[in-house]
Amino acid sequence: MNNKMTYSLAIFVALSIASGCSKGEVAPSVSPAATATPPVSAGSPTPSPSPSPSPSITPKPSNTPTASPSTSAVPPKSGAIQVVAKPESITVLVNKQNSLPSSYEPTDLVYPDIPFTFAEKNEKRKMRKDAASAIEKLFAGADKDGIHLAGVSAYRSYATQKSIFQRYVLKDGEEKAKMYSAVPGTSEHETGLAIDVTGSDGKCAAEDCFGGTKEAKWLEAHAAEYGFIIRYPKGKSSITGYQYEPWHIRYVGIDVSKELAAKGLTMEEYYNAVPVTK
Ligand SMILES: [Zn+2]
Repeated sequence: MNNKMTYSLAIFVALSIASGCSKGEVAPSVSPAATATPPVSAGSPTPSPSPSPSPSITPKPSNTPTASPSTSAVPPKSGAIQVVAKPESITVLVNKQNSLPSSYEPTDLVYPDIPFTFAEKNEKRKMRKDAASAIEKLFAGADKDGIHLAGVSAYRSYATQKSIFQRYVLKDGEEKAKMYSAVPGTSEHETGLAIDVTGSDGKCAAEDCFGGTKEAKWLEAHAAEYGFIIRYPKGKSSITGYQYEPWHIRYVGIDVSKELAAKGLTMEEYYNAVPVTK
């Protein structure tokens, strides 16, 4: 990867940054970066700034000794979204370039026994079995430290994500919608392995003001002990494609979470799914 390509990627990613949680209930706000985006032809699957060359993002499974990235070995076309080969893998990489199949529905969704910020018993409470068991332990561990957490949003089906996204497309058009809402199949919430959490008072649920709270600090320090990572850490938005989301944690299993936390790596870096320029 030469400097020009790296620079182009940085621009591409910067223009693509959006919130990963896309709460259907909240009116989206388009970031300044989004408004600076050049127009993209309507038929293009993802925004791709011209005239600079758009690099293809190719996961390299062979470079990852400890886990399989579970993405297709077929390199994607430039700017294309590829469908992951093993959507059921606990360590599956789902992001703007790697999508779950539209037909994917986890087979082991359960209701974790944790408090949520809402009363209804719906799919937003569900997580896959291993992740549910781990989040119960994490919440119990936090309680022991005097930190009281509540779930905001966990599983989201492809159908739900599709309806949220389509609502935004109707409102703002597809290109703008992509700036703040995940294309169906590319939201990590569809894995059943991710959950947004907040303090039990429900304030700052999936909002920037959660950053710096004692709950956010506790998660930062302890999530990895329970198999979770802060999926979109501060200072890594050019790599993950998402701004800092201290509330969005992703279950990857304790071995991987501890390794990522110790090395300060995102999943993209772990899988060499984007060029690392440092
Ligand atoms: Zn989230």
